[in-house]
Amino acid sequence: MDVDLRCEAEQCVYNLEELCTAPEIQVHGEDTMGGRFTYCSTFAVDGDGKASLKHLNNDNNYNFFISSPEVECSAINCEYNQREMCYAPHVKIISEISTAPIQTECQTFIPREGLYSSDV
Ligand code: SF4
Repeated sequence: MDVDLRCEAEQCVYNLEELCTAPEIQVHGEDTMGGRFTYCSTFAVDGDGKASLKHLNNDNNYNFFISSPEVECSAINCEYNQREMCYAPHVKIISEISTAPIQTECQTFIPREGLYSSDV
């Protein structure tokens, strides 16, 4: 499922004015109970060996490349996670000071209902 994604990590090569131009991204979180320990491993800066899409920042290409990437996600305790895919209607990744994947975070993470209950 394609997700409406907003991303503040403006130093990422895929970021165009808070829109993500990657066709798919990988979010990590494993068994975290909170968004603070999630991160986008697709984040890349120039020189990482990944193609830079910054050159697409003009009117024609810009509209074409505004994308809603498919979001694979290992944060299995998130309410929006189904079989390690994200089904949130909107996802926000932070933050603007990120210079490495581990410094990013999925701010949309919410714990599954009942996760903190004593019967789980
Ligand atoms: S909202 Fe949940 S499932 Fe979607 S990317 Fe964020 S942590 Fe993963």
